[in-house]
Amino acid sequence: MADLDLPPGPPRADPTGRPRASGPTAVPIRPDLVSLDGYHSPQVDVEVRLNTNESPLPPPDSWLAALQDELGRIEFNRYPDRQASELRQALARSHGVRPEQVFCANGSNEVLQCLLLAYGGPGRTVALFEPTYTLHRHIAMITATSVVAGTRTDDFQIDPDEVARVVADSQPIITFLCSPNNPTGRADPPETVERVVADTSGLVVVDEAYGQFAPSSALDLVRSAGPGSERVVVVRTFSKTWSMAAGRLGYLVGSPEVVAACELVTLPYHLDAVKQAAGRLALQFEDAMQARVAVLREERGRIAAALTEMKVETWPSDANFILFRPTDRSARRVWQSLLDRSILVRDCSEWPGLTGCLRVTVGLPEENDRFLAALDAALEGPLEESRI
Ligand code: PMP
Repeated sequence: MADLDLPPGPPRADPTGRPRASGPTAVPIRPDLVSLDGYHSPQVDVEVRLNTNESPLPPPDSWLAALQDELGRIEFNRYPDRQASELRQALARSHGVRPEQVFCANGSNEVLQCLLLAYGGPGRTVALFEPTYTLHRHIAMITATSVVAGTRTDDFQIDPDEVARVVADSQPIITFLCSPNNPTGRADPPETVERVVADTSGLVVVDEAYGQFAPSSALDLVRSAGPGSERVVVVRTFSKTWSMAAGRLGYLVGSPEVVAACELVTLPYHLDAVKQAAGRLALQFEDAMQARVAVLREERGRIAAALTEMKVETWPSDANFILFRPTDRSARRVWQSLLDRSILVRDCSEWPGLTGCLRVTVGLPEENDRFLAALDAALEGPLEESRI
């Protein structure tokens, strides 16, 4: 199991025995893909799953009832609305933009992939600032786009001077921000995003998968129609606050030109009718969603306080997860000790810039209690000789 939670980085022999995409007997895949690993957040059967930042709460029962009702009206023998018109209208209304500014796909990862298919590719470069969401780099690589990585400050914030340096050197077609940043937790203040927009002539893609937890959003910039605002793209998902990770629905809000570019690279009818209805109906339950966000924010505060009490190093979070470093302990052993108690968190301890760090998703109060008790127990044990 330990082998499944692989850090991003160069290839390694696969001890799980999982077939690799290429080998001596296989027809060779694209040479630039050979060194890539897929996405390996383990899906292990545990009692407390706090490793992938999903909502611990299901969507409201009334949403499910409305969706069941809607299923009876879908003409399953027909292709779905290729434009996803009603869903886009509903999203546009909820964000105060025009439907032509909204593009939907099967999860925000697919939205990111469409952006990279449309704007990336051979001979083009994107910039990102690590540590950040590993799929930005990964999707760039599978679309044969070059990646230039800048760094963050010691407390994982975006440093506008570093951004200016990186974009001046590499002239990226896309600069990725992630606000709140996964896995470190902080949101970028509006001034930072504005400064990045001013410093680059490419797109600025702000991944706001956890946007509803944050104090500000780059959506304000898109709506502002200010200088450079047409190059700002905000990416959001139904997987987190909307409690619909199983439904795979994400979207972007940006200029109509960006939407048209993404439409060029999608397959026909890529968004099925059930998903379109599920997303449109979910938006009618905004209050229930906000109530879930409020509960999780409160729990986040409780976990952060408890971690501080335990003298565990943590970083402030504007999202539904907390990055922490079990000081004086091997993070890997703490991770294993939690797993032995059927609690799964994300092991980031070997990711660049995150030595010794773990990330815990905010769960239900009873799940968080179990996590805190198990962590306390793991930290009580004798210190190991080798520390990460
Ligand atoms: N962006 C960020 C920052 C994420 O953390 C995630 C989920 N891990 C995604 C995008 C992808 O979400 P989805 O494809 O489920 O919409």
